Amino acid sequence: MTEKTWKFDTLVIHGAQTPGEWKSTTLTPIYQSASHQFETAEELSDVFAGKKAGFIYQRLRNPTNQALEKRMTLLTGGLESVVTGSGMAAINNAVLAICRAGDEIVSGNSLFMSTFLLFNNVLRKLGIDVKLVESGDLSAWEKAVTPKTKLLFVETIGNPKMDVPDIRGLAKLAHANRAPLIVDNTLATPYLCKPLELGADILICSTTKYLNGHGSAVGGVVIDAGRFDWPEDKYQDFKIFKERVGKRAFIDKVWREIHINFGTTQSPFQSYLTLIGLDTLALRMERHLSNAEKLAEFLDRHPKVKWVNYPGLAKSTYHEAAKALFQGKGYGGLLTFGLENEKACFDFIRNVKLAYHLANLGDCKTLVIHPWSSQYISFTEESRRENGITPDMVRVSVGIEASEDILEDFDQALRKT
Ligand SMILES: *Cc1c(COP(=O)(O)O)cnc(C)c1O
Repeated sequence: MTEKTWKFDTLVIHGAQTPGEWKSTTLTPIYQSASHQFETAEELSDVFAGKKAGFIYQRLRNPTNQALEKRMTLLTGGLESVVTGSGMAAINNAVLAICRAGDEIVSGNSLFMSTFLLFNNVLRKLGIDVKLVESGDLSAWEKAVTPKTKLLFVETIGNPKMDVPDIRGLAKLAHANRAPLIVDNTLATPYLCKPLELGADILICSTTKYLNGHGSAVGGVVIDAGRFDWPEDKYQDFKIFKERVGKRAFIDKVWREIHINFGTTQSPFQSYLTLIGLDTLALRMERHLSNAEKLAEFLDRHPKVKWVNYPGLAKSTYHEAAKALFQGKGYGGLLTFGLENEKACFDFIRNVKLAYHLANLGDCKTLVIHPWSSQYISFTEESRRENGITPDMVRVSVGIEASEDILEDFDQALRKT
């Protein structure tokens, strides 16, 4: 029996574990050290020159972070990963390793709030033009791609629109235009979907959410499939990386050029917490998915609820796309629903007893939030609506509690609206 034959549920616990190197501890030790000691000048020189593997300084590489990198690489079917201080750092690092002023990006318009702001405000200031298109409309993507397009970017499940793109179709379109497809797989996790196996080239995950699962640490990871060949007439500055490390060019560039110099390091303690959380990912996802389906059906029947948006409901616009993409395993742990008005949403949030009211998702606890008045408050009304945010909307990250208790909590709070 080897890692190659293990099923996902086993791999997520035992994959890339090296207790032999950890003086027999069963959990990855926290290598809480800014720097690493070397016996000889020759040895340190070899590590700096890349002739020998080794750890030099925490901002560069760290053994605890590396254990998380190796496990994420295995779970996603990638070639190599870089763990970063947050999911946003992972997105930023991947994009900046590829693009420079004058380049274009085509992205799905259903984006995590900070990604939307990064793409719309920050990258534009750097001279990188981001064209946003309807994530699920392949013909809109086709029209937006030009020879200047350096990458395509999409989320597996749009938050909070709950739309699901055609990843295979987007990968084909990207490759026909000699550009890589980057997928933010935070909401689906590798349990539900492995975009690298569907043709995507680069994967982004915020480890803060389901991967950690307990809301105990922020973090992110960039994972490369190692397949995109970075044609030299289009990606000139990949040449030296390709010459140095071949298929590992992208991750080497992310690491050497962006991660180290922007200082987007993850703390080893955060990686340690995330590694512990990861052990139970498969089990937690099973429950997140089944609880979300039950809650969506319950809300859909509830007299106080005007509408429910969840790809698991047969009437959802994205039901078929999600069924195909997730192969019937489930439809994600996030849903939104509508009440009479904003006041009813506030009443509901004030009255839930079990659910926590906070800005996060993917925690084992059920979480509720009113996005219109919180995360998106700095957006214009128009751009809130474009992002699928309305004043009557509550977003729920469905936890892993007993489903009966979640339904009962929601029912008693809904009655008070
Ligand atoms: C949370 C989130 C991010 C950002 O991750 P952080 O760890 O909070 O920086 C990116 N994409 C998606 C889809 C997210 O949900």
